[in-house]
Amino acid sequence: MLYQRSSALFKDAENVIPGGVNSPVRAFKAVGGTPIFAKSAKGAYVYDEDDNRYIDYINSWGPMLLGHAYEPVVKAVIEKAKNGTSFGMPTEIETKIAELAVSMVSNIDKIRFVNSGTEACMSAVRLARGYTGKDKIIKFAGCYHGHSDAFLIQAGSGAVTFGSPNSPGVTSGTAKDTLLAIYNNIDNVKTLIEANKNEIACIIIEPVAGNMGCIPPKAVFLQQLRDLCDEHEILLVFDEVMTGFRLAKGGAQELYAIDADIVCFGKVIGGGLPVGAFAARNEIMNHLAPLGNVYQAGTLSGNPLAMAAGLAMLTAINNDKDLFKRLDEKTEYLHKGCAAALNKHNITHTINRKGSMISIHFSEEQVVDFESAAKGNNDTFKAFFHGMLNEGIYIAPSAFETWFITDALTYEDLDETISAVEKVAQTL
Ligand SMILES: *Cc1c(COP(=O)(O)O)cnc(C)c1O
Repeated sequence: MLYQRSSALFKDAENVIPGGVNSPVRAFKAVGGTPIFAKSAKGAYVYDEDDNRYIDYINSWGPMLLGHAYEPVVKAVIEKAKNGTSFGMPTEIETKIAELAVSMVSNIDKIRFVNSGTEACMSAVRLARGYTGKDKIIKFAGCYHGHSDAFLIQAGSGAVTFGSPNSPGVTSGTAKDTLLAIYNNIDNVKTLIEANKNEIACIIIEPVAGNMGCIPPKAVFLQQLRDLCDEHEILLVFDEVMTGFRLAKGGAQELYAIDADIVCFGKVIGGGLPVGAFAARNEIMNHLAPLGNVYQAGTLSGNPLAMAAGLAMLTAINNDKDLFKRLDEKTEYLHKGCAAALNKHNITHTINRKGSMISIHFSEEQVVDFESAAKGNNDTFKAFFHGMLNEGIYIAPSAFETWFITDALTYEDLDETISAVEKVAQTL
């Protein structure tokens, strides 16, 4: 494939945008080369500026559950725009989407809309701290909750020590309030709680991790977390920015029959427009300003275009009885096909999958946490990524990302993908 125009556009972008991108992973640093520039997209396909067509497995990093330029979403946004794009006043549509979201997700009474997943998680933690009167939080290594300071933390020197900043600009003061736990390891969480008795406001987790590849929770892990939180008066925060409205109507809470205390949303809930949200029962949500004193605000929060897109998206999901079954079947088909193609050429790999999330790890070991995810062979991944791109299959440009299956994918698309995997496997 030729990437002439994308290469030229990237050069221009680099002059005026740091690294040429507005979000780092887009820059292809983890796989080498320069990014392809998107021109348009429809259904399961994205087209670049050189008019190459790709079957898209990133789907804007998750929002496009029903495919690109999904007609009801596009129509809703266009219609809304004609009446003004922002008011800074309440609008009826905010209540409509809130009612629908609350009806789809268990254990939430009220929801507050923001503009990104980052904002949702950042606000959820503030609310948890304000509600409990405690300062520290536990997060899991390899889980991503957006780029606010409290989450940009890496493991400190010892297992029970405080975290340390993993980006310049994050203060050590902030880092000392974030404790880092190992995903799928309940004993590790217990140790952290014991060492920080009565100091932990919340445990925040991706109930199915999607930012170190796809890593489902072990069978009883989420229930064990729930029990620990109840025992120690810690709030359990599910970051469902990726899994919300994707794994089930009610997200991972529904799939695993576990109630979290605060739930964060993003991605699918905005139908491709900038939307995030966080939600909880009244007793918690009523602590939020202007009802309570935990402050949180946003000039463009609940923006009518974003709400129109989100409402059209959630309505479509809510009205489709078979959606999650179809998505699961497509993902399973892809899983089996990819595994067979890689096995045929003796490529060492592990595939993780849950619902419409799937990831291929070039590793012998089971991938259950950040450490095991990091053991994958990155050189193989790089070659695989570029091989697939050249075959017209767009997967995430990093081994630590999940592929997102959309309902727009046909079995012909999946077969084309599996053929590409087989072809690329021969070169690995
Ligand atoms: C994408 C993501 C975020 C951050 O959302 P942004 O909209 O990029 O700020 C937070 N949590 C999880 C689980 C995510 O996947």
